Amino acid sequence: MPVTEQFSNFPCDVCGSDDAAEIDVARGYTNNQPLHVCKACGFVYVRSRRSAERIAQAWSKEIYQHAYTAHVPAVKARQTFVADFLDSATGLKGKSLCDIGGGEGQFLGIARDQYGANVFCIEPSPVNGKALAAQGIDHFVGTIEDYAAANRPRKFDVVTIMWTLENCQSCRAMLVAAYHIVKEGGLICVATGSRILVPFKKPLNYYLSDNAADTHAFRFSANSLRNLLAAVGFSFHGVNRYIDNDILCMVAKKNPQASQEDLHRDDWREIADFFRRWDKETRDHYWNGEAVDTRVVPEAGQKAR
Ligand SMILES: [Zn+2]
Repeated sequence: MPVTEQFSNFPCDVCGSDDAAEIDVARGYTNNQPLHVCKACGFVYVRSRRSAERIAQAWSKEIYQHAYTAHVPAVKARQTFVADFLDSATGLKGKSLCDIGGGEGQFLGIARDQYGANVFCIEPSPVNGKALAAQGIDHFVGTIEDYAAANRPRKFDVVTIMWTLENCQSCRAMLVAAYHIVKEGGLICVATGSRILVPFKKPLNYYLSDNAADTHAFRFSANSLRNLLAAVGFSFHGVNRYIDNDILCMVAKKNPQASQEDLHRDDWREIADFFRRWDKETRDHYWNGEAVDTRVVPEAGQKAR
C-alpha cells in the first residue's frame, strides 16, 4: 500500500453542486470518514475520493480477498431477480445484453440459459475473463471506459450495471461510457443494494462500514438514481417494488433529450433525518457500539469457489 494516499474533493455527481451537508451520524460507523448529502438535489455521496485505479485496487486487494464469491445463494437470488425483472420489462429473448463488471458471468449465464439473451461481458479481471471463456461467454477484459473508447465498440439492446455503480470512483463517468454502447432506444438497467429513504432492512452498522469510504461512494434513492440516469441521457422506464425489497432495480431508455427532464429532488433535511432515525433504531435495539465483522463471507454450507 502506498505510504500517502492522494484524495480529491468531488462536487455532487448528479447536479454538480458543491453545496453539501455532512450526515452527522455516519462517522460513528465509518471510522470517522465523512458522508455528505447534496443540499441542491439530495444525493448522498462521499466527497473525498482517490483515483479510479486506487479504488479498484482497494476492492481487489483489500475487500475481495476475504473469500468473496458470487456463488452464494443470496447473490444468485438477486441476479435471478434482476434477470426476471428485466425480462418482464422488455423481453430478453433474442436481445443483445452486455453486463458491465460481470465478474464470473453467473448473471449472464442465467440471462442466456433461462431467458434466451445473447450475452456479452465487460470485466476488468483477467482471472474472471478465463471463467467467462470457459462458459462460452463472449467478453472484453478491461473497464467500460476502455471498451467505449475502443475502435468500433459493439452496441447492445440492453446494458446492465449490477452492484457496481455505487463502488466506482465516478458513477457519472461509468454511465456516460455505458451510454455509448447502448443502441438508440435501447435500455440500461441499474441494480443496487445501497437504497435509502425506504424502511430500514438492516442495522446501520451493517449498512455503513469502516472500509475506505471511497470504495462505496454513492448511496441511491429511487429519485437520485433516476436523476443521475436522466443527467447522462436515459429516460425513466420502470423500477421494481423497492419499498420492501433489498434491491433497487431501475430500467431507463436511451434518450438524448433526457438531460432536459426535471429533477425529482430529495430534500436533504429528510435524508439527514432518515439517517438519524436509522442510527437511533440501530443503537436502541441492535448494536452496543462494539466493532462488528461485516465482511462478506460464504454462507453456511457453501464452499468458496
Ligand atoms: Zn446534487
